[in-house]
Amino acid sequence: MKKIAIIGAGISGMYFANLLQKSSDFDFTIFEKRSLLYMKNGYGIQLSVNSIKLLNQIGFNKIDKKEIFNPNKVIFFNAKNNQKICDIDISRFNYEDNQYTTLKRSTLLNFLLNNIPKEKIKLNTELKNLTYDNKLKLSFSSNVTEDFDYLIISDGVFSKSKTIILNKNIKPKYFKSIALRGNLRNYPNEDISLYLGSKFHFVIYPVNKSDEFNFIAIIRKHLTNHQLSDENLYNDKNLLKSITQELYKKTTLELEGKLENIKFFPLYISEKLEISDNKNVFFIGDALFATPPSFAQGASQSIETAKELFDQIENNKNDFYEKIIKRLNSVSWRSKLNYFSFHLSNPIVSSFRNSILKILVKNNKFLDSYLGNIYRD
Ligand SMILES: Cc1cc2nc3c(=O)[nH]c(=O)nc-3n(C[C@H](O)[C@H](O)[C@H](O)COP(=O)(O)OP(=O)(O)OC[C@H]3O[C@@H](n4cnc5c(N)ncnc54)[C@H](O)[C@@H]3O)c2cc1C
Repeated sequence: MKKIAIIGAGISGMYFANLLQKSSDFDFTIFEKRSLLYMKNGYGIQLSVNSIKLLNQIGFNKIDKKEIFNPNKVIFFNAKNNQKICDIDISRFNYEDNQYTTLKRSTLLNFLLNNIPKEKIKLNTELKNLTYDNKLKLSFSSNVTEDFDYLIISDGVFSKSKTIILNKNIKPKYFKSIALRGNLRNYPNEDISLYLGSKFHFVIYPVNKSDEFNFIAIIRKHLTNHQLSDENLYNDKNLLKSITQELYKKTTLELEGKLENIKFFPLYISEKLEISDNKNVFFIGDALFATPPSFAQGASQSIETAKELFDQIENNKNDFYEKIIKRLNSVSWRSKLNYFSFHLSNPIVSSFRNSILKILVKNNKFLDSYLGNIYRD
């Protein structure tokens, strides 16, 4: 039986653990730095059919349908005047039992957590050191040292374990933007509403069938190194107030007083994809490569890379990175292109962008290539 250590109990680590749990060939332990897996937050996540297909293989299709939503369209609006620009029918990529899904992150994480025996998750634990002597000898912050056959690093975009494994200081890059998150109720549109503005965009979508919606804005913002290194920046109420007030002024959509649980945080992405020389050490999810959130693919790619890695280990193959690099690149450039085109500030250029968008959303060949290649392949 192969022994596998997973570092980080996020979407990628827990999806990978779910796959291992279904096989009798593996014994695994998840090491998580947090002291509890608090899974109550109401923020949302979008999952396209590529990851829903993989989640269904571990029983996601049995989830209570009231806890999820299946939007049919992405509707583009001009944030300034709240006028509709056009829409994309994303349901055309659905299969009968496998559909574009929006839900609370906590619903997804609790689903993943439910299938993992509690004793297999060690909380309050970080990887401290790794030596290799026939087996991987891992030392943890809990003062435990244990031998494993495989080490899977899934501790997110700020992966400290990556620095230990690659023996160099690897830091993600500030994407010169912040994310502003919140919840709202009784929003009139049941699809995914995407508002385009000058140097910002925001998205509103339902997270279940109880009239609860997720709000997420991506706003370009210069932050100084001093601000970025300040751990209390996220709690700066004055900064949060000035960010929200600035946004409210730029849109005619009534948000003030309607958004709840508003939080902001700086956005980071991976500078480049780095891999371990050790053939039994792998990075997955954001620890492998984090893209901007403007294509809503981070979690779906986390699930895809975890599945690809599981298949590799199960079938004793060794072309994991070869298989996933092309796909991650495809997602990365689409995310950056979306970000660029959503944020155009010159009114003439953005009006031209809107005209092009109206044409593109009706062009099935374009949609199959730009979205279908990611959602359906
Ligand atoms: C604003 C925003 C909106 C997004 N929206 C979407 C969306 O709609 N759809 C989508 O597909 N993706 C979306 N994403 C991307 C998605 O959230 C991430 O890609 C995904 O959560 C990555 O999962 P992960 O498991 O790799 O990392 P994480 O979710 O970051 O999990 C990492 C885990 O490792 C733990 N950890 C950290 N350090 C250590 C350590 N040293 N030792 C042990 N454990 C550690 C953490 O506590 C955590 O539990 C969005 C991202 C952002 C920023």
